[in-house]
Amino acid sequence: MPQSTGNPKRKRVNVRRPEVMEKVTAEVEEHYRSSIVEKIRNAGGELTIDGTTLRLAQQFGFCYGVERAIDLAYAARRVFPEQRIFLIGEIIHNPEVNKQLADMGIVSLPWQELSEDYDRLEAEDVVIVPAFGAPTHFMEKIADQGCYVVDTTCGDVMKVWRRVKTYVKEGMTSIIHGKAGHEETQATASRALGEDGSGHYVVVLTLDDTDFLCRYIREGGDRDNFYARFEGALSPGFDPDHHLQRVGVANQTTMLKSETEEIQRRVRQAVIDRDTEEKNFKFFDTICGATQERQDALFEMLRKPMDLLLVVGGYNSSNTSHLVEIAEQELPTFFIRNAKCLEDLEQLVHFDLHRKAEVKSRYPAALLGDGPATVGITAGASCPSNLIESTILRVFEMRGISPERVREA
Ligand code: SF4
Repeated sequence: MPQSTGNPKRKRVNVRRPEVMEKVTAEVEEHYRSSIVEKIRNAGGELTIDGTTLRLAQQFGFCYGVERAIDLAYAARRVFPEQRIFLIGEIIHNPEVNKQLADMGIVSLPWQELSEDYDRLEAEDVVIVPAFGAPTHFMEKIADQGCYVVDTTCGDVMKVWRRVKTYVKEGMTSIIHGKAGHEETQATASRALGEDGSGHYVVVLTLDDTDFLCRYIREGGDRDNFYARFEGALSPGFDPDHHLQRVGVANQTTMLKSETEEIQRRVRQAVIDRDTEEKNFKFFDTICGATQERQDALFEMLRKPMDLLLVVGGYNSSNTSHLVEIAEQELPTFFIRNAKCLEDLEQLVHFDLHRKAEVKSRYPAALLGDGPATVGITAGASCPSNLIESTILRVFEMRGISPERVREA
């Protein structure tokens, strides 16, 4: 029987044992690795064949947190070959990876609410907590059921939790820049309530939300309007006339850095305008290193001309969406789930962030024409290399270059 650690009720399990991890590493590599991606990376990130140039960002794809979460999920299956294994929601925001875990018999539980599925968990069951973490009441519930817990929460997410817990101790309300309905932000928001539930938070997504909030900080306002604006994004019992007196800003790890910085600036200014000093304001940049590196690499990539950019990843992936937002200001950019989106020769299938729907668009002329073309590819932190490889092969194939030639190049 595996050894559990920590709180006996919680039964956290260490599945990272050398004999297990050796096999897991081989298995994960087999499922997600790509020799073509590695070859292009090692060659400086570019491959040109017969006038078609494929350019990769310097940083893209799986981050350390995602790699760790996947390794732990695979390890859990090996350590508990016979037991039921459940996962709170999705391990990461990539449908192919989640399907792979489902094929291994790992069953996804609802993450939006503690459904009755959680009542049916038994002491011998294993529950995997995803890289985003899970709200405290989910953690308490699986501990109460006595399950084995394999916690893959990324260390960078836990840093945000530490920050908001500090805000509670200092009597400050957390202003969280994030998506209120995102798993990570829900997990963070639950920590912003503090150990005794007396803390408060408000989640802001846009600069418009921020300006609305800042007006309230400066001048007060209509409470009903406030509640309507932030419906679903406030702690229980939030009173804007009391809980905006002392505020600390934190952010979901995968937000757009420039936007987060602007939100910090605007909230700070609002507090100074009201109090003539900033002692009632704090902030801490909690964007993770991997998100930052991928955004920086994209800015760098955009300095050279390209005919189009493909951003590969799950449509619900926050960090991937921000890469799309950055690039679409500069050139034709398509957010695709995988190479299948390029199957049709007339139109490509992609996700439109503004319409929040999968749509079809005509290919940019440069890709279909006979002249030279440069196609850029990047991917969010939850996208495995094998999906990037199939996209690369499909791009070359559309230009009349076979996969064999790409492999030999
Ligand atoms: S994107 Fe950042 S916070 Fe999320 S798993 Fe990766 S390293 Fe961790």
